[in-house]
Amino acid sequence: VFGMSLGEIRTRMAAAAERAGREASSIQLLAVSKVQPEDRVRAVLAAGHRVFGENRVQEAEDRWTPLRAEYPDVELHLIGPLQSNKVRRAMEFFHAIHSIDRERLVRRIADAVQASGRCPLLFAQVNTGREPQKAGVTPENLDALIESCRGHGLSLHGLMCIPPAEEDPAPHFTLLRELAERHGLTGLSMGMSGDFEQAIAAGATHVRVGSAIFGERQTPQR
Ligand SMILES: *Cc1c(COP(=O)(O)O)cnc(C)c1O
Repeated sequence: VFGMSLGEIRTRMAAAAERAGREASSIQLLAVSKVQPEDRVRAVLAAGHRVFGENRVQEAEDRWTPLRAEYPDVELHLIGPLQSNKVRRAMEFFHAIHSIDRERLVRRIADAVQASGRCPLLFAQVNTGREPQKAGVTPENLDALIESCRGHGLSLHGLMCIPPAEEDPAPHFTLLRELAERHGLTGLSMGMSGDFEQAIAAGATHVRVGSAIFGERQTPQR
């Protein structure tokens, strides 16, 4: 009807895992539902999927507050940029935050953890292509960001990247894995509709797949 079926994506993920000598169960599929119409999201829920990625705090709250009343076991991941003034809301709403890329955010998150006593899974976003317009910490500045997390008592789960659109993603996935290994981090959030199999080959633990599941987004990519 719209994108590929969830079953098809899972089959491709399992095949990619097998080729890489990995357990398929070690890789989480985040269905990226940003700006998708509700009927498509409901179809994926009805198919039994429960883990979703959203780009914006407000949009996620608007969509998922009512849906979560029906599906309390839904797990939401924030994969888009986080503004410092939305940290508290994001920390209450999301199971994981994939876009930590600056010291100020680390401080705000640490404050929120102090206040609430709970912390989502945290990923630092790395701008592996060093693209000026893109979010993420550069590979050079990652050490300092990780130090800052440790200094504030936060434990990072892993790293996330969005490779440059017009480049072969494989070297970016490899770089992210190397950076994670160097810092003893186990989570690797990488791979989207066009390249999730390559990401799995490079060690991805969380793939973020939108249009391949839901179909093309009606509103432009952001
Ligand atoms: C939109 C988005 C995705 C999903 O992209 P598709 O190409 O539709 O699979 C994955 N990750 C991030 C950070 C996104 O913003």
